[in-house]
Amino acid sequence: MKQAIVADIGGTNIRAALVTSSGEIVQKLKEPNSKEPIQMLYKLIDTLLSEHQADLTGIGIAVAGLIDSKSGTVLQSPNISSLNGINLKQETAQKYNKLVVVENDANAAAFGERWKGTGKKFENFVMLTLGTGIGGGIIVKGKLLQVAAEIGHISINSNGRPCACGNMGCLETYASATAIVGNAIAEIEKGTESILKAAYKGNFYKITAEDIYKAALDGDSVARTVVREAGKHLGTGIASIINIMSPEAIILTGGLLGAWNIYIEAAINEAAKRALKELYSRVSIVPSELADDAGMIGAAGLVFEQSQQSSTSN
Ligand SMILES: [Zn+2]
Repeated sequence: MKQAIVADIGGTNIRAALVTSSGEIVQKLKEPNSKEPIQMLYKLIDTLLSEHQADLTGIGIAVAGLIDSKSGTVLQSPNISSLNGINLKQETAQKYNKLVVVENDANAAAFGERWKGTGKKFENFVMLTLGTGIGGGIIVKGKLLQVAAEIGHISINSNGRPCACGNMGCLETYASATAIVGNAIAEIEKGTESILKAAYKGNFYKITAEDIYKAALDGDSVARTVVREAGKHLGTGIASIINIMSPEAIILTGGLLGAWNIYIEAAINEAAKRALKELYSRVSIVPSELADDAGMIGAAGLVFEQSQQSSTSN
């Protein structure tokens, strides 16, 4: 069976996998991202190549950042700035002499969900990746829409917080894991009582979004408020997406999905209040099936799709 080697380059980790043309993952590898992400990427690809006699169709790379997928250039990656301006497609194709596809990570994840996950049931949907930042990918009539879909940088407050992108009041400055952690720390600094204060032996600057969600489930009122407020902001963003795209579904993935009972519920309630009623009544807001693997499976799907297109156009 044909196979693809794929990688997902995020701000925190680089993951790579060997994936078959039916979307099964044969082997997965993960390394923390370093200052030399391309060297790490090639090390992971070399490991997979040396351990398998793969019938390789190509290499698919999903990257957190703005990508020109036609040329395969990383235009702007806020969390992995060493990749800015690099033509990853050309470099990788020269090194391995294979078909290479480079795509934004959330776009790849949306394509992965459409191919092998929850998205199989929907022709038109918007995927949101909820983690350190907020990413988006859009599927229309079953196809990946070739647009930036930087949904995390929709401004929900025109005089709001400054964002790393240069805009103010971006959705991700209010609704991401980074926002949840920042807001919790700010509350504790103000002196508000919280069980989080004692976390990490009092060094509460180390708390994670997961710690905060756990504290919220334990009834800590600072944690509950912070997680619920982030969810409400997410719902404000989701309402705009529903009004613009009238999708059949909003599919959610990423590290914050574990906080479904408070964060996502607050988001759904807020979206229900704000979106046009007729459009809201037709949308399903559902979790992804592929979770962390969506980007890699999608990158593989894009490799097989492109290989088919180039063989039929020849
Ligand atoms: Zn922004």
